[in-house]
Amino acid sequence: MSHRSKEFAEVLEETKSLFRDVMSVPDNFEIMFMHGGGTGQFAAIPLNLKHTFADYIVTGAWSGKAAQEAEKFIHVKRASIKSDAAYLYYCANETVHGIEFHEPPHSIHGVPLVADISSNFLSRPFDFRHHGVVFGGTQKNLGAAGITIAMVRKDLIGKQLPITPAVFSYKEMQDNNSLYNTPAVYGIYITNLVLKWIRDQGGVEAIYETNLKANMIYNIIDSSNGFYHCAIDKRYRSNMNVCFRIGGESGDDAKEAEFLKGAAERHMISLKGHRINGTDVFSRSVGGIRASLYNAVTLSDTEVLATWMNEFLAKYS
Ligand SMILES: *Cc1c(COP(=O)(O)O)cnc(C)c1O
Repeated sequence: MSHRSKEFAEVLEETKSLFRDVMSVPDNFEIMFMHGGGTGQFAAIPLNLKHTFADYIVTGAWSGKAAQEAEKFIHVKRASIKSDAAYLYYCANETVHGIEFHEPPHSIHGVPLVADISSNFLSRPFDFRHHGVVFGGTQKNLGAAGITIAMVRKDLIGKQLPITPAVFSYKEMQDNNSLYNTPAVYGIYITNLVLKWIRDQGGVEAIYETNLKANMIYNIIDSSNGFYHCAIDKRYRSNMNVCFRIGGESGDDAKEAEFLKGAAERHMISLKGHRINGTDVFSRSVGGIRASLYNAVTLSDTEVLATWMNEFLAKYS
């Protein structure tokens, strides 16, 4: 089946319109299915929103990477909020650190916000106000790896630098309805199915209610007298990635290994936290355990983890 066939055109159009409905994307935003992952957008954003500098709020690994990539193309200021910036960038959910913006940061003087929602995509209702670009890879909450959905305010399209590769140009994507070259057709089809699943669950509000399942885990952490330790301020704890250490603030490697082994016996894998190199408080607090409670993880799946955490705590208290 050609990506330019009538059959695929129908899949693409249906997926786009389902997506606009489920995510409540305002009419003045273009929806594009792009290549290159979330990481591709780290370059696409400065290339398309041409200006001398942009502000980046760096809250963890992913916004840090985005700032580093943007520096190849424009001047980047970290954690400054200036009225003449091209945009103010933030990562809505820091996947490695377990830090989530429960509401968007404030922008000033109409500086558009740019949000990376890769790891909390459609996990909660999204407020598009003040945003210029909102993007995310589909692999965590919306289907298979291989597509990045970029939502770009239409008045910001067409300002790309002349060196912008065509596959990263919002203008080319808009002019060709995401068919500048072959899109990830299978991934788009899978996302179509996931969008129908979200719709049938009761939409993103219902998904959000279920995602409060994370509190089940945070409550165990907070009532464990420090046996489990989450370094993140309660106001910014992620509903998607619950990061914690076992056996105190800096973690006890032996206990964490034992916990992971028991988890695997209970059919829970990939709970090992992502380690990053560094000596600051942030680097010490990650590693350990990371429970990724994406949309597909049910309440009863979460209960399996909660039960194991309670058992493990009981053993050591
Ligand atoms: C996973 C993730 C990305 C991913 O990027 P890819 O290039 O698709 O691997 C970007 N940002 C965040 C916040 C992520 O969690």
